[in-house]
Amino acid sequence: MSDAADETPTPIDVPNDASLMEKIVNLSKRRGFVFPSAEIYGGFRSTYDYGPIGVQLLRNVKDAWWRAMVQMRDDVVGLDAAILSPPAIWEASGHLKNFTDPLVDCRNCHERFRQDQLEDPSTCPNCGAKDSFTEARQFNLMFKTHAGPVESDAAVAYLRPETAQGMFVNFANVLQSSRKKPPFGIAQIGKSFRNEITPGNFVFRTREFEQMELEFFVPPDEADRWYEYWVDARYQWYVDLGIPTEKLRIRPHDADELSHYSSGTSDVEFLFPWGWGELEGIANRGDYDLTQHATHSGEKLDYFDQANGTRYTPHVIEPAAGATRTMMAFLLAAYDEEEVRGETRTVLRLHPRLAPYKVAVLPLSKKDTLTPRAREVLAMLQPHVMCDYDETQAIGRRYRRQDELGTPYCVTVDFDSLEDDAVTVRERDSMAQDRVKVDELLGYLLPKLA
Ligand code: ATP
Repeated sequence: MSDAADETPTPIDVPNDASLMEKIVNLSKRRGFVFPSAEIYGGFRSTYDYGPIGVQLLRNVKDAWWRAMVQMRDDVVGLDAAILSPPAIWEASGHLKNFTDPLVDCRNCHERFRQDQLEDPSTCPNCGAKDSFTEARQFNLMFKTHAGPVESDAAVAYLRPETAQGMFVNFANVLQSSRKKPPFGIAQIGKSFRNEITPGNFVFRTREFEQMELEFFVPPDEADRWYEYWVDARYQWYVDLGIPTEKLRIRPHDADELSHYSSGTSDVEFLFPWGWGELEGIANRGDYDLTQHATHSGEKLDYFDQANGTRYTPHVIEPAAGATRTMMAFLLAAYDEEEVRGETRTVLRLHPRLAPYKVAVLPLSKKDTLTPRAREVLAMLQPHVMCDYDETQAIGRRYRRQDELGTPYCVTVDFDSLEDDAVTVRERDSMAQDRVKVDELLGYLLPKLA
């Protein structure tokens, strides 16, 4: 076999800088992770489409979150609320008034910037002009549209800028139907939309993105304890899925960064090629959200504790993560290069749970005699795990392609397989090869992919 087990790789140092970003963007396009949107029409600024490989990776990120946050717990239930929403929700939540960024224009080159993101507030980063900025204007980030054929004020609707409000407005519905009692949570994954002034850094900041949010409702005197619990649990989720701890940190917000209702917020940050950036915020939101919606809607949004006859408004701990941004962090953290027999091998060392394909089935050659056996092996694996099947090109090149997709195992069917009913299993990271009987293959692979 061209990919001999004894080849010893030499690690290559991949600097965490703009060159890594370029590699990730190129790999994403070349292998089908992420494509620029509407490319045949010249693209649509800062919007992206997730290709055949990216859709799997993104789905696996979301599934890993759902598994940890909903499936593995008996105190969290799921929800999928509407994206189109009436102004009343955003009036109550405070978004109509406060969900704004300070916008400045450069009078010289007419570029627009978020004032709070300028490194030097007196110099235009685009044209270098000094003191050329207009006064800051507060720009609301919500996308406004009209529901129905008449563009009247009565028909105004907003695309949600976060999934969280869906959980608050359904608090009473979920409480009654699920028979949960605090401490309990409602989890949701879905698209959110923000008319960002300066989107950029690939899928780090886009106008359309996906969020994974939990609203965890607790008795007021337990809020601090649960806040600490969720900060730790959420940090650990990223570590368990393979982000190295030196690229991950928890950053508690300073008092002047906190929203008026929050008694504590911590961000989980990742070391992106341009520096530390937020993956997720965990906030201790008090009773702000339920109280606002109760006041504005006139509905009771509280909890009656029959055990001691008390009624209270639960406090909320909110871990709010971005699925698309997190997917990008997993890609950056997994990217690796090494030298093997004078050639650079690119490998995505993704956690098996995140890998787009778990197994690739590769007949050694395209000979008709191997195809039926290889297809049988594929059909045996497909009900259990996402597989790729590839019979073109030399086997070495097919291994390299799977390395770039992050596929943990390649299963090669060769001429001996027809005699001994065994296949060669090649592991992505070590490139070590094992001969495994076909009828033992599932038992061999599945525990390693869990
Ligand atoms: P930022 O300060 O980066 O704008 P934020 O603090 O406003 O983010 P939250 O409102 O806390 O973000 O949203 C929770 C998560 O949603 C963020 O941690 C991030 O992962 C994700 N997110 C927010 N805005 C975007 C965006 N424009 N593009 C991609 N992901 C986003």
